[in-house]
This record gives sequence, structure tokens and C-alpha cells, in this order.
Amino acid sequence: MADNLLDFDLPGLAAWCEARGEKRFRATQLFRWIHQRGESDFDQMSDLARPFREKLKRDAVVAGLPVLSRHDSADGTIKWLFDVGNGEAVETVFIPEDDRGTLCVSSQAGCAVGCRFCSTGHQGFSRNLATHEIVAQLWYAERFLRAHLGRSDRVITNVVMMGMGEPLQNYGALVPALRIMLDDHGYGLSRRRLTVSTSGVVPMMDRLATDCPVALAVSLHAPDDALRDELVPLNRKYPLAELLDACNRYLPQAPRDFITFEYCLLDGVNDQPEHAQRLIELVRQHRRGGGVWCKFNLIPFNPFAGSGLQRSTPEAVSAFARALNDAGIVTTVRKTRGDDIDAACGQLAGDVRDRTRVHERLSKRRVIPLASADLPTSGNPTSGGTPYATR
Ligand code: SAH
Ligand code: SF4
Repeated sequence: MADNLLDFDLPGLAAWCEARGEKRFRATQLFRWIHQRGESDFDQMSDLARPFREKLKRDAVVAGLPVLSRHDSADGTIKWLFDVGNGEAVETVFIPEDDRGTLCVSSQAGCAVGCRFCSTGHQGFSRNLATHEIVAQLWYAERFLRAHLGRSDRVITNVVMMGMGEPLQNYGALVPALRIMLDDHGYGLSRRRLTVSTSGVVPMMDRLATDCPVALAVSLHAPDDALRDELVPLNRKYPLAELLDACNRYLPQAPRDFITFEYCLLDGVNDQPEHAQRLIELVRQHRRGGGVWCKFNLIPFNPFAGSGLQRSTPEAVSAFARALNDAGIVTTVRKTRGDDIDAACGQLAGDVRDRTRVHERLSKRRVIPLASADLPTSGNPTSGGTPYATR
């Protein structure tokens, strides 16, 4: 079977070329054709010798993923649904801003972590994506956007691994994909503009620090273990103290001098003043050496059918942000983008066959217990009784 060259980082492609009697620098030329120019037709790669092109046609392909659909939001956000075979699909989202273009990339079909507030989590897990399937999302989107916007310079300046899946539970395929994105002969992203977001797979955070330190975002969502156990089930394996220690170990290798904590604000569940105070305490307890070591990005919950949860009120969001900022913790509120096309954070569901029955389990769970019974709720029942309708 032909090898898909989207699977190889540059050293991998060099080894592939050498095994076929070609010099290493040929691999660089080939790599640039594929990733910088988005070329998949070997006959178009005019500076490669004809015999090499013949070998490539015999042994290799540059194969993207079939596009099942594209949705354009009124705010310029674009969402693609890619076919990954076997009836499964994953989603990729482009978010244009004045000074950058960000691509939100998926790492798995579904997700096994099963966070209570996440549409992908409700879908259950099907399988890990291969390196070429992760890279194909960027490869396709960059080529499409240049043609669509009539541009010849790079459109995608930032990549966030915040699409479907838990990237650090697909580590083997993730790292070569990150290296391709970082490579100057590939997409040339700086480490600061490539972010891996994780729900907290502690051992893999340590490995990432050594193997490929890129910007890190950690999905926190709760100030104590009791609540986080309910919202992010992985917390039962890697509780907050271990997670925050891992963040501290990551920092010396990180391209930025802070970790971003993501915190999805759920009405009456984790958005009360008491939660903000406990969060401030937690961050203070774990700060090593003083100074800023984390920033918070608050994400107002993006609802989806059957979640049984509601977005915090704008007042609660501002009060939460103010409390953290007043305590000296730099905090921003993420703008919702693309929600008219279900492309906002946590709305990505693709079309995944739930092989883990997570959805069934999540929809049977009725109530999220609050971390402490004395916290006021603001009136929204957190019943997850309605089954989530897969699209
Ligand atoms: N699995 C990784 C990356 C994908 S999720 C992780 O959990 O970090 C990307 C971000 O979207 C995470 O911070 C996640 O908690 C957040 N998110 C998930 N569902 C959401 C929803 N319904 N509304 C708002 N944010 C959500
Ligand atoms: Fe998986 Fe992240 Fe969604 Fe949790 S929030 S279910 S880890 S994709």
C-alpha cells in the first residue's frame, strides 16, 4: 500500500527518501511542496528529478480527508466536517481575527474523557486519529483559505488542539503532527502560536515538556476535586494537586511563562463567588517562586441539546472575571465565535459512533452534585435526562 506522506515529519520523510536511495535534501524539497504549497500531485513538483517522481507515484500519496460539509458563520468562522472513514467524521474550525487566523484542530473521533459539559464527550470515543488525519485538517484548510480569500501569504497563523478529542490521549500521533506544524519547511508556526489543550493527562504533560514543548492550556473547570471529579472524570485519576504540580513542571520548558487555565462557566454549578474565591486560593497555593504563572480564560458554556446545563448569566461571568482579576490573576473571557453553525467550543460533535457508551452513561446521570451543599444555585436544574441527539 502507498504511504501517505502527510504522516511524516521531516526526519521521518528524510528516512523514507533515504530508504529509496534519495538524498536527504530531496526530502526537504518534497516536504516544502506538500506543506508550504499544498501540492499533492507529484508531477507538479517540477524541481524533483523525474525518476524520483516516478518512485513517489509508485510508493506514495499525499491524501487529504474527504470534506463532507462546510459551514460559514456570519462572523467569518468556517467549520468543516471531514470524513475519517467507517461512518465517522471530525470537525475543524477556522476563526479569523484582525491580527491572526486560528485553526481549531481535532485529535480523536469522539473522546473518552466524557466531560459533562462537552458535546464531544457526550458522543463517546471511537478512535484516535492518525498523524496524517490531524495534519490533513491544517493542510486542507490553509490551501482552501488561500484560494477562498485570494491570498498567497499564510492565512493560518495559530493552531489550537481544541477540537474533538483529548490530544494527550493520542500522544503517538500528536507529536509528529506538532513537529510538522512547527517545522520551518512545513507550516513554520512558532511554539507560542501552537497550543495543546488538555483535560489533564499528567504523565503525558511531562512527556510533552521534553518531546515538543508548545503552549499549554489546561481545562480546569472547578476549584476542588469533588466538583472536578463530576465535571471532568479524568480528575479521579489525576486530581488537582497532581495536575497543578505537572503545570509547574511544564513551565520551565514552556514557550510562554504561564499556563492558560480554561474554565467553562456553568450556571449555578461552578460560577458562584465562592468558586472564584476557592480558585484564587488554589492558584496561590500552587504558585512557585511568586509572580504570574497562569492566566485564566473563562468560556461561557456553549449549550447543546441534552446537556441539561445552562450558560452563566453575563453578570455572573463578569463578576467571576472581576474577582480573579482583582486578585491579580490575569483573566479574559473568550468570545463566542461561530455558534450559529455549532462551531463554538464544546459544540463539536462530528458524527461518531459511540463505542464506549459514554453518552448512555452521561445521559442517565441526573444531577451534578455541587462541591458543597451550601453554595447557592441560580435556579437552573442540572438534569442530564434528555438524550443527546447525534447529528
Ligand atoms: N480535550 C481537550 C481539548 C478539546 S476541548 C480539553 O478538554 O482541553 C477544548 C476546550 O473547550 C476545553 O477547555 C473544553 O473544556 C472546552 N469546552 C468543552 N465543551 C464546552 C462547552 N460546551 N462550552 C464551552 N466550552 C467547552
Ligand atoms: Fe474530551 Fe476535552 Fe470534551 Fe472533555 S472537554 S470530553 S477532554 S474533548
